[in-house]
Amino acid sequence: MKKAKNIIKKMTAGVVKSCKELGNVHVLSRVVLCVAAVMAVVAICVVIFNKPARQAVMEVVNPEHHTVIEVKSGDSLSKILSTQGFSINDINAISKNLKKDADFTTLRAGRDKFDFVRPKEGEPISKIIIENGPWNRIEIDCETKDTWQCQKIEIERDTRIAYKEGEIAKGSSFYLSAMDAGIPEGIILDVYDLLAFEMDFERDIRAGQKFHVLYEENYAFDKKVDNGHVLAVSFDALRGNVQMYRYVKENGHSGYYDANGNGAIKSLKRTPINNAKITSKFSGRRKHPVLGFTRAHKGVDFRAPTGTPIPAAGAGRVIARSFNRGHGNFVKIRHNGTFETLYAHMSKFAKGVSVGTMVRQGQIIGYSGSTGLSTGPHLHYEIIKNGVHVNPMTVKLPAIDNLDAKEKTLFMSRKNILEETISILKSNPNQIIRVSDLIEQPELKSESQKDNKKGKK
Ligand SMILES: [Zn+2]
Repeated sequence: MKKAKNIIKKMTAGVVKSCKELGNVHVLSRVVLCVAAVMAVVAICVVIFNKPARQAVMEVVNPEHHTVIEVKSGDSLSKILSTQGFSINDINAISKNLKKDADFTTLRAGRDKFDFVRPKEGEPISKIIIENGPWNRIEIDCETKDTWQCQKIEIERDTRIAYKEGEIAKGSSFYLSAMDAGIPEGIILDVYDLLAFEMDFERDIRAGQKFHVLYEENYAFDKKVDNGHVLAVSFDALRGNVQMYRYVKENGHSGYYDANGNGAIKSLKRTPINNAKITSKFSGRRKHPVLGFTRAHKGVDFRAPTGTPIPAAGAGRVIARSFNRGHGNFVKIRHNGTFETLYAHMSKFAKGVSVGTMVRQGQIIGYSGSTGLSTGPHLHYEIIKNGVHVNPMTVKLPAIDNLDAKEKTLFMSRKNILEETISILKSNPNQIIRVSDLIEQPELKSESQKDNKKGKK
């Protein structure tokens, strides 16, 4: 621009000089001529110096050329590369480097995408981008032939926080009401798993019960890709409001805790099979359907078609895997010094489950059936506390993974931050709050700022 101004100055000076030389021309004509000449110079300059700017705009309009190929079943690396004109030698070199530099050996149909980039249409390919999964891509540099440098690029997750609230509609389930509230299905299933320890989604659901969920959404380049963790959940259950908050301990392990910082995940599930209907309750006395006379029903019966997988209600050791006339095929698990659970009438046992096997919560231990004294396929489930049969639906179950005093204090400030986030998003749902905004706890932040000031002095 400075250069342009100088040129205009020089050219204008030249015109003025030649105007002065027109000594014998009438004064008015001289003025008119000079003004016209100056205007002409300015006009020429405008045309000359605007040209490169226009070209720059044209280049933005014509970006690099992309050929995107989605991997379909039956595709191979060599098939895809040869359609783009790569020689067999090149294909071998690229495939070798993909394995060496990016640990990429197999294509996955429906997930992987190739993007062949050319500086301009018709020019040789300068770069291949392989998108393999939402958070990875591999770039292959084709400009320096024969090197085929591969670079694995991890796409940074931009994790934002979403808040949704809803209410159980009349005659509706939690699942449908949560869908209506706009909660993604994956998050609903996570909430199911979290609350299954606290409530029974078949029997404890009533119209008008309110719930809310605070959860993570992962974005890449301003586009939502998937969901992350549930951060907080609240449900107005029959037994009172259930609240859970996610907290990552100093050792890196995460867990869910109630508003007082007690472990929210119980050691046993009241209903091992999600959403199964109770066909017979626990009772001190009942008429036995097969024996005909009245005797105690020491467990709860859940309707379960033959072959329904039965998960362990909690982690523990298998102490019986056997058959008797009443229970048919049954498994008994000892969870701790206090609790045991028993699962009866199984059609078969799960592979690898025998006396002494350690099982984790949710691990399949067998399949429902109608063996023993049974009128139809169901799961008979018992909880035994200190050797006494208790009602699985009402027994007070212990919380596991409690926090020590120091962690409890940290949890409380985390809980306050999550609650604050809920109230911000409640009044302004479109506000973007990132998980990274929450990491520094206010108290800790002001302390570290103090430390920084000290350091500078
Ligand atoms: Zn039973």
